[in-house]
Amino acid sequence: MKYINSILFLLVLSICCGFYFIPGKVHKKPALALIGVNVIPMNKEQVLKDQVVVIENGKIRSITDRLKSKLGKDVQTIDASGKYLVPGFFDMHAHFFYEQGNNVNTCAEELKVMLANGLTTVRIECGDSVYLDARKKVEENVWTGPKLFVASPQFVGKWAWPGKVFAEICTTPKEAEVAVRKCKKQGYDEIKITFMVKRDVYDAIIKTAKEENIKVTGHVGPLVKLPAALQAKQQIEHMDEFIDMLLPDTSYNHGECVSDMNIWRKNAWATVPFLDENKIPALVKSVKEAGICVTPTNYFFFSSFADSIPKEEYMKRTDYGYIPSVIIKDRWEIREHYWKNPPLADKRKKYIDIRKKITYALWKAGVPLMAGSDSPEWFLVQGFSIHDELEVFTKAGVSNYGALETVTKNPATYAGVIKNKGTIEAGKDADLILLDKNPLENISNTRSINTMILGGELYDRKSLDKMLGDAKKVLSK
Ligand SMILES: [Zn+2]
Repeated sequence: MKYINSILFLLVLSICCGFYFIPGKVHKKPALALIGVNVIPMNKEQVLKDQVVVIENGKIRSITDRLKSKLGKDVQTIDASGKYLVPGFFDMHAHFFYEQGNNVNTCAEELKVMLANGLTTVRIECGDSVYLDARKKVEENVWTGPKLFVASPQFVGKWAWPGKVFAEICTTPKEAEVAVRKCKKQGYDEIKITFMVKRDVYDAIIKTAKEENIKVTGHVGPLVKLPAALQAKQQIEHMDEFIDMLLPDTSYNHGECVSDMNIWRKNAWATVPFLDENKIPALVKSVKEAGICVTPTNYFFFSSFADSIPKEEYMKRTDYGYIPSVIIKDRWEIREHYWKNPPLADKRKKYIDIRKKITYALWKAGVPLMAGSDSPEWFLVQGFSIHDELEVFTKAGVSNYGALETVTKNPATYAGVIKNKGTIEAGKDADLILLDKNPLENISNTRSINTMILGGELYDRKSLDKMLGDAKKVLSK
Protein backbone atom coordinates (compact mmCIF):
# COMPACT_ATOMS: atom_id res chain seq x y z
CA MET A 1 0.00 0.00 0.00
CA LYS A 2 2.86 2.32 0.95
CA TYR A 3 4.38 1.50 -2.43
CA ILE A 4 1.20 2.28 -4.33
CA ASN A 5 0.99 5.66 -2.62
CA SER A 6 4.49 6.64 -3.62
CA ILE A 7 3.91 5.46 -7.22
CA LEU A 8 0.73 7.52 -7.36
CA PHE A 9 2.60 10.52 -5.94
CA LEU A 10 5.32 10.20 -8.60
CA LEU A 11 2.74 9.83 -11.36
CA VAL A 12 0.85 12.96 -10.25
CA LEU A 13 4.11 14.85 -9.89
CA SER A 14 5.28 13.78 -13.33
CA ILE A 15 2.01 14.79 -14.98
CA CYS A 16 1.94 18.19 -13.19
CA CYS A 17 5.51 18.96 -14.23
CA GLY A 18 5.03 17.80 -17.79
CA PHE A 19 7.52 15.00 -17.16
CA TYR A 20 7.25 11.44 -18.27
CA PHE A 21 7.95 9.04 -15.52
CA ILE A 22 9.54 5.82 -16.61
CA PRO A 23 10.97 3.67 -13.82
CA GLY A 24 14.67 4.44 -13.56
CA LYS A 25 14.49 7.34 -15.98
CA VAL A 26 12.89 10.76 -15.83
CA HIS A 27 13.10 12.98 -18.86
CA LYS A 28 11.29 15.97 -20.13
CA LYS A 29 10.23 16.12 -23.72
CA PRO A 30 9.21 19.56 -24.88
CA ALA A 31 7.14 19.89 -28.02
CA LEU A 32 9.18 20.78 -31.06
CA ALA A 33 8.23 22.95 -34.01
CA LEU A 34 9.75 22.98 -37.48
CA ILE A 35 9.26 26.55 -38.64
CA GLY A 36 8.69 27.53 -42.25
CA VAL A 37 9.04 24.05 -43.70
CA ASN A 38 7.57 22.94 -47.06
CA VAL A 39 5.55 19.81 -46.37
CA ILE A 40 5.10 17.05 -48.96
CA PRO A 41 2.38 15.16 -47.08
CA MET A 42 1.98 12.33 -49.63
CA ASN A 43 -1.78 12.05 -49.02
CA LYS A 44 -2.14 13.70 -52.41
CA GLU A 45 0.22 15.38 -54.85
CA GLN A 46 0.78 18.74 -53.23
CA VAL A 47 3.35 20.85 -51.41
CA LEU A 48 2.15 22.79 -48.37
CA LYS A 49 4.48 25.76 -48.35
CA ASP A 50 5.83 27.63 -45.33
CA GLN A 51 4.27 25.50 -42.59
CA VAL A 52 4.80 25.03 -38.90
CA VAL A 53 4.89 21.35 -37.95
CA VAL A 54 4.65 20.63 -34.24
CA ILE A 55 5.91 17.31 -32.92
CA GLU A 56 5.07 16.08 -29.45
CA ASN A 57 5.25 12.72 -27.70
CA GLY A 58 6.58 11.08 -30.84
CA LYS A 59 3.58 12.20 -32.89
CA ILE A 60 2.77 15.00 -35.29
CA ARG A 61 0.63 17.35 -33.20
CA SER A 62 -0.27 19.88 -35.87
CA ILE A 63 0.55 21.22 -39.32
CA THR A 64 -0.34 24.89 -39.71
CA ASP A 65 0.30 27.70 -42.13
CA ARG A 66 3.14 29.77 -40.61
CA LEU A 67 1.15 33.01 -40.74
CA LYS A 68 -1.71 31.46 -38.75
CA SER A 69 0.40 29.49 -36.32
CA LYS A 70 0.56 30.39 -32.63
CA LEU A 71 3.05 28.57 -30.47
CA GLY A 72 3.19 28.34 -26.71
CA LYS A 73 6.37 29.26 -24.86
CA ASP A 74 6.97 25.60 -24.03
CA VAL A 75 7.60 24.76 -27.69
CA GLN A 76 11.18 24.46 -28.93
CA THR A 77 11.63 25.81 -32.43
CA ILE A 78 13.85 24.83 -35.33
CA ASP A 79 14.23 27.01 -38.40
CA ALA A 80 13.39 24.74 -41.34
CA SER A 81 12.61 27.45 -43.87
CA GLY A 82 13.29 26.46 -47.46
CA LYS A 83 13.56 22.79 -46.52
CA TYR A 84 11.23 19.93 -47.47
CA LEU A 85 9.54 17.50 -45.11
CA VAL A 86 8.60 14.02 -46.36
CA PRO A 87 7.41 10.91 -44.49
CA GLY A 88 10.16 8.53 -43.37
CA PHE A 89 10.97 5.96 -46.05
CA PHE A 90 10.23 2.23 -46.15
CA ASP A 91 12.53 -0.35 -47.71
CA MET A 92 10.32 -3.36 -48.35
CA HIS A 93 13.11 -5.74 -49.28
CA ALA A 94 16.26 -5.75 -47.21
CA HIS A 95 18.45 -8.26 -45.44
CA PHE A 96 21.22 -8.11 -42.85
CA PHE A 97 24.85 -9.07 -43.44
CA TYR A 98 24.35 -11.83 -40.86
CA GLU A 99 22.97 -14.26 -43.45
CA GLN A 100 25.39 -13.16 -46.17
CA GLY A 101 28.16 -15.47 -45.23
CA ASN A 102 30.09 -14.42 -42.15
CA ASN A 103 27.46 -14.97 -39.43
CA VAL A 104 28.73 -11.94 -37.52
CA ASN A 105 25.85 -10.02 -35.99
CA THR A 106 26.26 -6.35 -36.92
CA CYS A 107 22.51 -5.65 -37.04
CA ALA A 108 22.77 -2.71 -34.59
CA GLU A 109 25.25 -0.92 -36.87
CA GLU A 110 23.29 -1.73 -40.02
CA LEU A 111 20.16 -0.24 -38.46
CA LYS A 112 22.03 3.03 -37.96
CA VAL A 113 23.13 3.03 -41.60
CA MET A 114 19.49 2.50 -42.62
CA LEU A 115 18.25 5.36 -40.45
CA ALA A 116 20.99 7.76 -41.53
CA ASN A 117 19.88 7.17 -45.12
CA GLY A 118 16.22 7.96 -44.61
CA LEU A 119 14.68 4.63 -43.61
CA THR A 120 12.24 4.59 -40.70
CA THR A 121 10.59 1.25 -41.54
CA VAL A 122 12.24 -1.80 -43.09
CA ARG A 123 10.95 -5.22 -44.03
CA ILE A 124 13.58 -7.92 -43.62
CA GLU A 125 12.85 -10.41 -46.38
CA CYS A 126 14.40 -13.51 -44.86
CA GLY A 127 13.88 -14.32 -41.25
CA ASP A 128 15.97 -15.59 -38.41
CA SER A 129 15.62 -15.50 -34.62
CA VAL A 130 18.46 -12.94 -34.59
CA TYR A 131 16.20 -10.56 -36.54
CA LEU A 132 13.19 -11.17 -34.29
CA ASP A 133 15.50 -10.13 -31.50
CA ALA A 134 16.59 -7.04 -33.47
CA ARG A 135 12.92 -6.12 -34.03
CA LYS A 136 12.34 -6.37 -30.27
CA LYS A 137 15.43 -4.31 -29.41
CA VAL A 138 14.21 -1.52 -31.73
CA GLU A 139 10.70 -1.66 -30.26
CA GLU A 140 12.13 -1.41 -26.74
CA ASN A 141 14.46 1.46 -27.75
CA VAL A 142 17.52 -0.59 -26.86
CA TRP A 143 18.72 -0.11 -30.44
CA THR A 144 18.25 2.98 -32.58
CA GLY A 145 16.86 2.27 -36.01
CA PRO A 146 13.87 1.76 -38.26
CA LYS A 147 10.82 -0.22 -37.20
CA LEU A 148 11.27 -3.74 -38.53
CA PHE A 149 8.90 -6.17 -40.14
CA VAL A 150 10.50 -9.59 -40.30
CA ALA A 151 9.43 -12.17 -42.85
CA SER A 152 9.92 -15.87 -42.08
CA PRO A 153 13.02 -17.86 -43.00
CA GLN A 154 12.72 -18.40 -46.74
CA PHE A 155 10.56 -21.33 -47.80
CA VAL A 156 12.56 -23.34 -50.34
CA GLY A 157 12.33 -26.72 -52.06
CA LYS A 158 16.05 -27.38 -51.55
CA TRP A 159 19.06 -25.96 -49.72
CA ALA A 160 22.47 -26.47 -51.25
CA TRP A 161 24.77 -24.10 -49.37
CA PRO A 162 27.20 -24.95 -46.57
CA GLY A 163 26.88 -23.52 -43.10
CA LYS A 164 23.78 -22.39 -41.28
CA VAL A 165 20.45 -22.95 -43.04
CA PHE A 166 18.44 -19.72 -43.33
CA ALA A 167 15.40 -21.54 -44.65
CA GLU A 168 12.40 -23.74 -44.11
CA ILE A 169 13.00 -26.62 -46.49
CA CYS A 170 9.62 -27.91 -47.63
CA THR A 171 9.38 -30.86 -49.99
CA THR A 172 5.83 -31.97 -49.16
CA PRO A 173 2.54 -30.15 -48.46
CA LYS A 174 2.58 -31.52 -44.90
CA GLU A 175 6.04 -30.05 -44.22
CA ALA A 176 4.83 -26.71 -45.60
CA GLU A 177 1.77 -26.71 -43.37
CA VAL A 178 3.82 -27.44 -40.25
CA ALA A 179 6.41 -24.79 -41.20
CA VAL A 180 3.82 -22.04 -41.80
CA ARG A 181 2.16 -22.68 -38.44
CA LYS A 182 5.55 -22.74 -36.71
CA CYS A 183 6.64 -19.40 -38.27
CA LYS A 184 3.38 -17.75 -37.28
CA LYS A 185 3.86 -18.97 -33.72
CA GLN A 186 7.44 -17.72 -33.65
CA GLY A 187 6.17 -14.23 -34.42
CA TYR A 188 7.23 -13.65 -38.02
CA ASP A 189 5.23 -10.99 -39.83
CA GLU A 190 4.95 -12.78 -43.18
CA ILE A 191 5.81 -16.02 -44.94
CA LYS A 192 8.63 -15.59 -47.46
CA ILE A 193 8.91 -17.93 -50.43
CA THR A 194 12.16 -18.16 -52.37
CA PHE A 195 12.99 -20.94 -54.82
CA MET A 196 12.35 -24.50 -55.98
CA VAL A 197 9.01 -24.67 -54.22
CA LYS A 198 6.82 -27.28 -55.94
CA ARG A 199 3.26 -26.46 -56.89
CA ASP A 200 1.55 -28.72 -54.32
CA VAL A 201 3.83 -27.37 -51.61
CA TYR A 202 3.04 -23.82 -52.73
CA ASP A 203 -0.70 -24.51 -52.52
CA ALA A 204 -0.26 -25.84 -48.99
CA ILE A 205 1.69 -22.71 -47.98
CA ILE A 206 -1.06 -20.45 -49.32
CA LYS A 207 -3.87 -22.46 -47.74
CA THR A 208 -2.22 -22.67 -44.31
CA ALA A 209 -1.15 -19.00 -44.38
CA LYS A 210 -4.77 -18.05 -45.01
CA GLU A 211 -5.89 -20.17 -42.04
CA GLU A 212 -3.18 -18.62 -39.86
CA ASN A 213 -3.96 -15.11 -41.13
CA ILE A 214 -0.40 -14.37 -42.21
CA LYS A 215 0.59 -12.78 -45.53
CA VAL A 216 2.72 -14.53 -48.14
CA THR A 217 5.47 -12.64 -49.94
CA GLY A 218 8.43 -13.43 -52.15
CA HIS A 219 9.51 -15.06 -55.37
CA VAL A 220 7.39 -16.89 -57.90
CA GLY A 221 9.29 -19.90 -59.14
CA PRO A 222 8.99 -21.61 -62.52
CA LEU A 223 7.33 -24.57 -60.79
CA VAL A 224 4.49 -22.29 -59.68
CA LYS A 225 4.20 -19.70 -62.48
CA LEU A 226 2.54 -16.33 -62.38
CA PRO A 227 -1.16 -17.22 -62.89
CA ALA A 228 -1.16 -19.44 -59.78
CA ALA A 229 0.61 -16.78 -57.71
CA LEU A 230 -1.88 -14.13 -58.85
CA GLN A 231 -4.78 -16.38 -58.02
CA ALA A 232 -3.27 -16.90 -54.56
CA LYS A 233 -2.88 -13.11 -54.25
CA GLN A 234 0.73 -13.55 -53.15
CA GLN A 235 2.65 -10.30 -52.75
CA ILE A 236 5.29 -10.62 -55.48
CA GLU A 237 8.96 -9.63 -55.19
CA HIS A 238 11.31 -8.97 -58.11
CA MET A 239 8.46 -9.11 -60.67
CA ASP A 240 9.29 -12.81 -60.83
CA GLU A 241 7.77 -14.60 -63.83
CA PHE A 242 6.45 -11.32 -65.25
CA ILE A 243 9.00 -11.33 -68.06
CA ASP A 244 8.25 -14.99 -68.74
CA MET A 245 4.65 -14.07 -69.53
CA LEU A 246 5.95 -12.14 -72.55
CA LEU A 247 7.38 -15.23 -74.22
CA PRO A 248 5.66 -16.06 -77.53
CA ASP A 249 3.45 -19.12 -77.72
CA THR A 250 5.87 -20.83 -80.12
CA SER A 251 8.70 -23.28 -80.04
CA TYR A 252 10.90 -20.51 -78.60
CA ASN A 253 8.85 -20.71 -75.49
CA HIS A 254 11.04 -22.83 -73.25
CA GLY A 255 8.64 -21.84 -70.53
CA GLU A 256 11.51 -20.30 -68.62
CA CYS A 257 12.95 -16.86 -69.12
CA VAL A 258 15.23 -14.80 -66.86
CA SER A 259 13.15 -14.59 -63.68
CA ASP A 260 14.29 -16.02 -60.36
CA MET A 261 17.41 -18.22 -60.38
CA ASN A 262 17.14 -18.62 -64.17
CA ILE A 263 18.95 -15.32 -64.56
CA TRP A 264 22.15 -17.36 -64.11
CA ARG A 265 21.29 -19.72 -67.02
CA LYS A 266 22.53 -18.94 -70.52
CA ASN A 267 19.58 -20.89 -72.00
CA ALA A 268 17.16 -18.59 -70.27
CA TRP A 269 18.91 -15.52 -71.72
CA ALA A 270 18.53 -17.07 -75.17
CA THR A 271 14.79 -16.44 -74.92
CA VAL A 272 15.16 -12.69 -74.27
CA PRO A 273 15.20 -11.60 -77.96
CA PHE A 274 11.79 -13.28 -78.38
CA LEU A 275 10.04 -11.40 -75.60
CA ASP A 276 6.95 -9.70 -76.98
CA GLU A 277 6.21 -6.22 -75.59
CA ASN A 278 2.69 -6.41 -77.00
CA LYS A 279 1.91 -8.83 -74.20
CA ILE A 280 2.62 -6.25 -71.49
CA PRO A 281 -0.96 -4.86 -71.31
CA ALA A 282 -2.46 -8.32 -70.72
CA LEU A 283 0.18 -9.08 -68.10
CA VAL A 284 -0.47 -5.78 -66.30
CA LYS A 285 -4.23 -6.30 -66.45
CA SER A 286 -3.91 -9.67 -64.72
CA VAL A 287 -1.68 -8.22 -61.99
CA LYS A 288 -4.05 -5.30 -61.47
CA GLU A 289 -7.05 -7.63 -61.23
CA ALA A 290 -5.28 -9.72 -58.59
CA GLY A 291 -5.07 -6.56 -56.44
CA ILE A 292 -1.54 -7.29 -55.24
CA CYS A 293 1.46 -5.08 -54.45
CA VAL A 294 4.68 -5.54 -56.39
CA THR A 295 8.28 -4.84 -55.34
CA PRO A 296 10.32 -4.68 -58.57
CA THR A 297 13.84 -4.44 -56.98
CA ASN A 298 15.03 -3.29 -60.42
CA TYR A 299 18.25 -1.62 -59.32
CA PHE A 300 19.51 -4.86 -57.83
CA PHE A 301 18.95 -6.72 -61.10
CA PHE A 302 20.28 -3.99 -63.34
CA SER A 303 23.43 -3.39 -61.32
CA SER A 304 24.12 -7.08 -60.73
CA PHE A 305 23.18 -8.81 -63.96
CA ALA A 306 22.67 -6.29 -66.73
CA ASP A 307 24.87 -3.18 -66.34
CA SER A 308 28.56 -3.95 -66.58
CA ILE A 309 29.62 -1.51 -63.87
CA PRO A 310 33.45 -1.51 -63.72
CA LYS A 311 35.16 -2.54 -60.49
CA GLU A 312 36.81 0.88 -60.05
CA GLU A 313 33.42 2.57 -60.21
CA TYR A 314 32.04 0.34 -57.45
CA MET A 315 35.07 0.95 -55.29
CA LYS A 316 34.55 4.70 -55.54
CA ARG A 317 30.99 4.51 -54.23
CA THR A 318 30.36 5.75 -50.68
CA ASP A 319 28.42 2.64 -49.73
CA TYR A 320 31.24 0.30 -50.78
CA GLY A 321 33.12 1.24 -47.60
CA TYR A 322 30.35 -0.28 -45.45
CA ILE A 323 30.67 -3.83 -46.80
CA PRO A 324 32.53 -6.14 -44.41
CA SER A 325 35.88 -7.18 -45.88
CA VAL A 326 35.14 -10.89 -45.33
CA ILE A 327 32.14 -10.49 -47.62
CA ILE A 328 33.75 -8.34 -50.31
CA LYS A 329 36.08 -11.09 -51.50
CA ASP A 330 33.16 -13.50 -51.99
CA ARG A 331 31.17 -10.83 -53.77
CA TRP A 332 33.88 -10.20 -56.33
CA GLU A 333 34.24 -13.92 -56.96
CA ILE A 334 30.50 -14.26 -57.66
CA ARG A 335 30.41 -11.13 -59.80
CA GLU A 336 33.48 -12.12 -61.81
CA HIS A 337 32.07 -15.61 -62.33
CA TYR A 338 28.95 -14.11 -63.92
CA TRP A 339 30.70 -11.32 -65.83
CA LYS A 340 33.49 -13.57 -67.19
CA ASN A 341 31.06 -14.72 -69.83
CA PRO A 342 28.02 -12.44 -69.62
CA PRO A 343 24.91 -12.51 -71.81
CA LEU A 344 25.37 -10.39 -74.95
CA ALA A 345 24.99 -6.63 -74.51
CA ASP A 346 21.86 -6.36 -76.67
CA LYS A 347 20.10 -9.01 -74.60
CA ARG A 348 21.01 -7.22 -71.40
CA LYS A 349 19.81 -3.94 -72.85
CA LYS A 350 16.51 -5.51 -73.86
CA TYR A 351 16.19 -7.05 -70.39
CA ILE A 352 16.57 -3.62 -68.75
CA ASP A 353 14.23 -2.05 -71.26
CA ILE A 354 11.49 -4.65 -70.76
CA ARG A 355 11.67 -4.47 -66.97
CA LYS A 356 11.38 -0.68 -67.15
CA LYS A 357 8.41 -0.92 -69.51
CA ILE A 358 6.63 -3.41 -67.27
CA THR A 359 7.32 -1.21 -64.22
CA TYR A 360 5.95 1.85 -65.98
CA ALA A 361 2.86 0.02 -67.23
CA LEU A 362 2.14 -1.36 -63.75
CA TRP A 363 2.39 2.14 -62.28
CA LYS A 364 0.20 3.64 -65.02
CA ALA A 365 -2.44 0.97 -64.35
CA GLY A 366 -2.45 1.82 -60.64
CA VAL A 367 -0.78 -1.33 -59.31
CA PRO A 368 0.74 -0.33 -55.95
CA LEU A 369 4.51 -0.53 -56.34
CA MET A 370 6.81 -0.72 -53.35
CA ALA A 371 10.48 0.14 -53.25
CA GLY A 372 12.81 -2.66 -52.22
CA SER A 373 16.57 -2.58 -52.49
CA ASP A 374 17.43 -6.24 -51.84
CA SER A 375 20.47 -4.88 -50.02
CA PRO A 376 22.98 -6.01 -48.92
CA GLU A 377 23.05 -8.37 -51.89
CA TRP A 378 26.18 -8.03 -54.06
CA PHE A 379 27.50 -4.49 -53.47
CA LEU A 380 24.32 -2.82 -52.27
CA VAL A 381 24.24 -1.38 -48.78
CA GLN A 382 21.03 -0.84 -46.82
CA GLY A 383 19.72 2.69 -46.87
CA PHE A 384 22.04 4.00 -49.58
CA SER A 385 20.50 1.67 -52.15
CA ILE A 386 16.88 2.77 -51.66
CA HIS A 387 17.79 6.03 -53.42
CA ASP A 388 19.21 4.04 -56.35
CA GLU A 389 15.91 2.17 -56.60
CA LEU A 390 13.93 5.44 -56.53
CA GLU A 391 16.02 6.75 -59.42
CA VAL A 392 15.31 3.61 -61.45
CA PHE A 393 11.57 4.13 -60.96
CA THR A 394 11.80 7.60 -62.49
CA LYS A 395 14.09 6.38 -65.30
CA ALA A 396 11.31 3.92 -66.14
CA GLY A 397 8.90 6.86 -66.50
CA VAL A 398 7.26 6.86 -63.07
CA SER A 399 6.76 10.45 -61.86
CA ASN A 400 8.80 11.77 -58.94
CA TYR A 401 5.62 11.75 -56.85
CA GLY A 402 4.84 8.19 -57.95
CA ALA A 403 8.36 7.14 -56.96
CA LEU A 404 7.94 8.74 -53.52
CA GLU A 405 4.72 6.76 -53.04
CA THR A 406 6.73 3.53 -53.35
CA VAL A 407 8.69 4.40 -50.18
CA THR A 408 5.86 5.97 -48.18
CA LYS A 409 2.13 5.55 -48.71
CA ASN A 410 2.14 2.30 -50.70
CA PRO A 411 4.24 0.19 -48.30
CA ALA A 412 2.50 1.72 -45.26
CA THR A 413 -0.85 0.71 -46.74
CA TYR A 414 0.36 -2.79 -47.59
CA ALA A 415 1.93 -3.30 -44.15
CA GLY A 416 -1.27 -2.18 -42.41
CA VAL A 417 0.35 0.81 -40.69
CA ILE A 418 -1.12 3.63 -42.80
CA LYS A 419 -3.05 4.83 -39.76
CA ASN A 420 0.25 5.85 -38.18
CA LYS A 421 2.82 6.07 -40.96
CA GLY A 422 3.35 6.73 -44.65
CA THR A 423 1.90 10.25 -44.89
CA ILE A 424 2.34 13.48 -42.92
CA GLU A 425 -0.88 14.19 -41.03
CA ALA A 426 -1.69 15.34 -37.52
CA GLY A 427 -1.87 12.40 -35.12
CA LYS A 428 0.52 10.20 -37.08
CA ASP A 429 3.94 9.02 -35.91
CA ALA A 430 6.66 11.63 -36.25
CA ASP A 431 8.78 9.49 -38.61
CA LEU A 432 10.01 12.18 -40.98
CA ILE A 433 12.84 13.26 -43.23
CA LEU A 434 13.87 16.88 -43.54
CA LEU A 435 15.47 17.38 -46.95
CA ASP A 436 17.54 20.32 -48.15
CA LYS A 437 16.09 20.02 -51.66
CA ASN A 438 12.73 19.25 -53.24
CA PRO A 439 12.41 15.58 -54.32
CA LEU A 440 9.43 16.42 -56.53
CA GLU A 441 11.81 18.45 -58.73
CA ASN A 442 14.46 15.77 -58.87
CA ILE A 443 14.14 12.38 -57.21
CA SER A 444 17.88 12.33 -56.42
CA ASN A 445 17.12 15.08 -53.91
CA THR A 446 15.95 12.32 -51.53
CA ARG A 447 19.67 12.00 -50.82
CA SER A 448 19.87 15.57 -49.45
CA ILE A 449 19.00 14.49 -45.91
CA ASN A 450 19.38 17.34 -43.45
CA THR A 451 17.70 15.77 -40.41
CA MET A 452 15.97 12.49 -39.59
CA ILE A 453 13.08 12.37 -37.16
CA LEU A 454 12.24 8.94 -35.78
CA GLY A 455 9.39 8.61 -33.31
CA GLY A 456 9.82 12.32 -32.55
CA GLU A 457 13.57 12.02 -31.87
CA LEU A 458 15.71 14.36 -33.94
CA TYR A 459 18.97 13.35 -35.58
CA ASP A 460 20.65 16.28 -37.30
CA ARG A 461 23.24 15.93 -40.06
CA LYS A 462 26.08 15.96 -37.59
CA SER A 463 24.67 13.11 -35.52
CA LEU A 464 23.74 11.14 -38.67
CA ASP A 465 27.32 11.48 -39.91
CA LYS A 466 28.59 10.32 -36.55
CA MET A 467 26.21 7.33 -36.72
CA LEU A 468 27.53 6.47 -40.17
CA GLY A 469 31.14 6.89 -39.09
CA ASP A 470 30.68 4.64 -36.03
CA ALA A 471 28.85 1.99 -38.08
CA LYS A 472 31.50 2.07 -40.80
CA LYS A 473 34.26 1.40 -38.28
CA VAL A 474 32.52 -1.82 -37.20
CA LEU A 475 31.24 -2.95 -40.60
CA SER A 476 34.40 -2.36 -42.64
CA LYS A 477 36.52 -4.56 -40.36
ZN1 LIG B 1 16.21 -10.59 -51.16
